[in-house]
Amino acid sequence: MQTGKINVTTENIFPIIKKFLYSDHEIFLRELISNAVDATQKLKTLSSLNKYDGELGDLTIEVKVDKEAGTLTISDKGIGMTADEIDKYINQIAFSGAEEFVEKYKDDKNAIIGHFGLGFYSSYMVSKKVEIKTKSYQDGAQAVRWECDGSPEFSIEDIEKEQHGTDIILHIDDDSKDFLEEAKINELLTKYSKFLPIPIAFGKEQEWKEDKMVDTGKMKLINNTKPAWVRKPADLKEEDYNNFYKELYPATMDEPLFNIHLNVDYPFNLTGILYFPRIKNNIEVQKNKIQLYSNQVFVTDSVEGIVPEFMTLLHGVIDSPDIPLNVSRSYLQSDKNVKKISSHITKKVADRLKEIFNKKREDFEQKWDDLKLFITYGMLSEEKFYEKVVNFALFKNIDSKYFTFEEYNTLVKENQTDKNNKVVYLYATDVEGQFSFIDAAKAKGYDVIVMDGQLDSHYINHLESKLENISFVRVDADVVEKLIQKEDGFESKLTKEQEDDLRPVFNSQVPNGKINYAVMFESLSETDNPIIVTQNEFMRRMKDMSALGGAGFYGDLPDSYNLVVNANHPLVTKILDDSIKNVGEQVTALRSDIAKLDSDKDALNKLKEGKKEEEVPQEEKDKMADLDKEIGEINNNRENVLKEYGSGNKLVKQLIDLALLSNNMLRGEDLTKFVKRSIELIKA
Ligand code: ADP
Repeated sequence: MQTGKINVTTENIFPIIKKFLYSDHEIFLRELISNAVDATQKLKTLSSLNKYDGELGDLTIEVKVDKEAGTLTISDKGIGMTADEIDKYINQIAFSGAEEFVEKYKDDKNAIIGHFGLGFYSSYMVSKKVEIKTKSYQDGAQAVRWECDGSPEFSIEDIEKEQHGTDIILHIDDDSKDFLEEAKINELLTKYSKFLPIPIAFGKEQEWKEDKMVDTGKMKLINNTKPAWVRKPADLKEEDYNNFYKELYPATMDEPLFNIHLNVDYPFNLTGILYFPRIKNNIEVQKNKIQLYSNQVFVTDSVEGIVPEFMTLLHGVIDSPDIPLNVSRSYLQSDKNVKKISSHITKKVADRLKEIFNKKREDFEQKWDDLKLFITYGMLSEEKFYEKVVNFALFKNIDSKYFTFEEYNTLVKENQTDKNNKVVYLYATDVEGQFSFIDAAKAKGYDVIVMDGQLDSHYINHLESKLENISFVRVDADVVEKLIQKEDGFESKLTKEQEDDLRPVFNSQVPNGKINYAVMFESLSETDNPIIVTQNEFMRRMKDMSALGGAGFYGDLPDSYNLVVNANHPLVTKILDDSIKNVGEQVTALRSDIAKLDSDKDALNKLKEGKKEEEVPQEEKDKMADLDKEIGEINNNRENVLKEYGSGNKLVKQLIDLALLSNNMLRGEDLTKFVKRSIELIKA
């Protein structure tokens, strides 16, 4: 037996490594299995090149746990190593490499986690001693046993071993005993080795015999050596893709909408399958993440930085040996290959969507609602993606018809162009809640788009900045006559004076609370509702944006709505007539008082004519101020008379409540009172 010293300078490198990688100990298994797979594939390659003429036979890699001995063994039937090779690859390269690695990343633990680079050495994260029993495939090779307890001392000796290949025997450390649990090893193998290209066996298949599960003689295979993404698209049916989806995400019930098979070999290597999931209205909850593999070895399921952010909504697998793995995320994002990969995937995804749109428009429309959030997210965040999909992104209208942007413009252009030559797209964010407005718009021959998605307020702003000559207006932003401003309108039945008298009447019954209401008059059709609640498009958008974390100023303003009174509605005329009957005399008297004072003011103003401000005598100035004050008081008086009258008018309250009700804004006590009042009114 020979002993020697491993070529490391740091004597106690093992404890350092161990501590370092504490949170990620489990990757040792992935590393050892990868080595076993490499050694096996090398043998296959040699055989195919006629450089190895022995039988290949069964090349299954076996993993065994011996709880009593406290060992975990990984055995392959690959090329094995000679004593010289052990010296070269294990004693020297592996360890010096590890030291370098630790040196490089000692301040950045995260850089190590989830990345390659530690290789064989990582077995010391969980072992107090490691043995290698190996025999080279070469004719007449002598098998050897190497052993090292974690100090830089190792020993090596000749042994008997029949089969070429390597057994790595880990003597598991006391603080890592869970790696002797079958369940744990099973979990790790499924996580990292599920799709490795060489069969991996762990444990025995079980079967049901006489009331209990018992081991059969058959080895249990962990992996699928030919996962769908490494097969040719031509050999795969829709069903195979769907089955593979289930294999990837066994806990999932949903079927994906469709898939993209990626296959690039120039200028970088990349294979994979991406699936479009059904994304409802929540970007946050996408638990089935894209899995990243390197030559079928699982690397990570956090692909941020490798694909554009919106793509992380997709599911599936990306396999590329060209993605650098032992680097930090920020480095990754600036890597040239990674950038190319990222834009390639973006392009592929857009192309696939386009293909489906072109070939199966009906199918595309059917899936649109589930796709929309993904596409919107992409359009908002990636200019390139926007440019690709803008020609087939769809609008869905209230009647669930779908239109491309171009088709939609053709549809509404004639009827919905305003006097400034802008085409106004009307949209609803809540089809139920905004029903009365949608109804009014439809009655006018307008079309209404559904924009109820999580990102739609951003999306609308984005489209307005991109599409020429278009503006979006929410269907409840104004009364229907004014949603799209055209020249013509109805003549008003109310004079300016009558409006002034009616305003306090309605104001007296406006709810006071957190929301501000401004009473205004519009001359609408007699058949429109008597009162309509609207919210100014601009204000509402500013509020929406600040809710999403933007324009703070608007967020602090109270919510304000317009209470639009239809000047031409018979019920409004009725209220006017009734008010005249009740307080008309009083109001007329006050008005004539005001008129008198006004003519006094006019007289004073005449005197002032031609004079400069400083030439006007103080006496006249005082008189003018007194008149203004008096007019103000009488006016207040007039308003108060009307307010008092209004506050006792049940019809006014009823009409306001009805308007609030049709906007989903009448709640709680107000709603209860409304119901009671309605019953009384019906009884009367
Ligand atoms: P890496 O795999 O990154 O090269 P490792 O430290 O894991 O680094 O392994 C160092 C070398 O030891 C390998 O390149 C290979 O030549 C050899 N080796 C490791 N494990 C095996 C094995 N199971 N069979 C044959 N050779 C192996």
